[in-house]
Amino acid sequence: MATGVVAAAQAAVRFPPPKLWIDGDWVEPEDGRVFVTENPATEEALCEVASAGAADVDRAVQSSRAALHGAWGSTSARERGRLLWKLADALEAQIDELALLETLDNGKPIFESRYVDVPGAIEALRYYAGWADKVTGSTLPVDGPFVLAYTLREPVGVVGAITPWNFPLIQAVWKIAPALACGNTVVHKPASYTPLTALRLAELAKEAGIPAGTLNVVPGTGSAAGAALVAHPQVAKVSFTGSTEVGRTIMRGAADTIKRVTLELGGKSPNIVFADADLDAAAKGAYTGIFYGKGEVCAAGSRLFVEAKVHDELMEKLVARTKRLTPADPLDPRTRLGALVSKAQRETVLHYIEEGKREGATVAWGGEPADIGGKGWFMQPTILDGVRNDMLVAREEIFGPVLAVIPFDQPDEAVELANASIYGLAAGVWTRDIGKAHDVARRLQAGTVWINQYNWYDSAAPFGGFKQSGFGRELGQEALAAYTEVKSVYVGR
Ligand code: NDP
Repeated sequence: MATGVVAAAQAAVRFPPPKLWIDGDWVEPEDGRVFVTENPATEEALCEVASAGAADVDRAVQSSRAALHGAWGSTSARERGRLLWKLADALEAQIDELALLETLDNGKPIFESRYVDVPGAIEALRYYAGWADKVTGSTLPVDGPFVLAYTLREPVGVVGAITPWNFPLIQAVWKIAPALACGNTVVHKPASYTPLTALRLAELAKEAGIPAGTLNVVPGTGSAAGAALVAHPQVAKVSFTGSTEVGRTIMRGAADTIKRVTLELGGKSPNIVFADADLDAAAKGAYTGIFYGKGEVCAAGSRLFVEAKVHDELMEKLVARTKRLTPADPLDPRTRLGALVSKAQRETVLHYIEEGKREGATVAWGGEPADIGGKGWFMQPTILDGVRNDMLVAREEIFGPVLAVIPFDQPDEAVELANASIYGLAAGVWTRDIGKAHDVARRLQAGTVWINQYNWYDSAAPFGGFKQSGFGRELGQEALAAYTEVKSVYVGR
């Protein structure tokens, strides 16, 4: 049984029934299968969730096709925008409950859910509500026997959205909002660890007046529900966020039906501190870059490159700050480091720390599981110093609160080391030299570069990866291209 503050929180939220959300209603999965979602901070069961199989996914796709060719397809662009705005209002009215659900399901601090994640989802919905009636084609200066040629931007069709567990609601909205703004319909498969806010979002979409079938939600395993969505011949596009490994599987699976694919994958992002930087700001940025979101952040600044002559000074500041970051109950509003999402995830993180030590890194801080009342998958914030860029902890994504510190001597060396990775999602640069900042930003192979800040996002700025961090962009005007087909129309004399 849950106790104290956790019990009070659980009593304050309404968990969804163990059913799928298809065609604007709760429906039983065909084979009656369910799974249990747990609170990673207490290891206790939160509720049962329905697990979709291929037949359920097909039912959801048929519902989304009907909406595409029916109620949603005939909704005007301006009305689509109005409905997305209403959905944002509905989220805002439920902001406390959504934040609680997210924290209970994921283990992230309530501070993050309440003041970053849910507000971020609301903002993205409003941003794309504004775009809905501004997705336009153009007239073309063609040569030939025509009086006119122009392009139309049309919806791609039924979109399969597959999302990870680290930012469940935000990741869902980053796909659903632009897809619906452009007139598509969506079948969403949330991550098995964190399906709850996605189900609540679908319910709220109905309350906001978005027609049945426009958004269906089919929780279930990646290998069953996810794979069925990728294989389905009537799904026109898959928008996936998750690991690079599963991204490869999705790309292969999409090949049979030549689906459009957008992949937002993993990262091993460099955060580069030059000797001329404001070191207090850089220490804070390095700390936020890796410890925000428990380090379970695709764009986490997990490789900290420090110019050797300021290494000791920066480390002193960084370790002093990190010592004050104590993992604690995610429901406590003062907590800034919650529980990792699962036992398996913590084991993975601990395995990487051991490998780092074996290869010669030293633990400047942390390195151990944290004991918070004997329960939950808590982990100390960890700084590994003396890392080389060819060590495992610098090459592979750990996806936890573990920072690898790598000293360098020359600016060119920093850029070379930063780019020596299969990933290219994000990067940070810390310097007071404006020319150097822009030069390094231009040379870094990354979809996002932050100068003298880290981990900042805005709905207007495209986000996505170079290299094996994926392709296609979410957010910004850029995302609209991912959810539309372009048609050229020639008008003869
Ligand atoms: P996974 O790749 O394991 O899973 C992501 C989603 O894919 C889940 O819904 C999962 O289902 C599903 N899935 C798993 N296997 C298949 C399959 N064969 N076919 C279709 N779907 C499948 O990632 P995690 O959930 O573990 O998330 C962490 C990863 O996501 C990290 O590598 C991180 O870098 C990346 N990420 C990238 C972001 C970006 O924007 N670039 C943002 C956030 C995370 P199930 O949960 O049931 O396994």
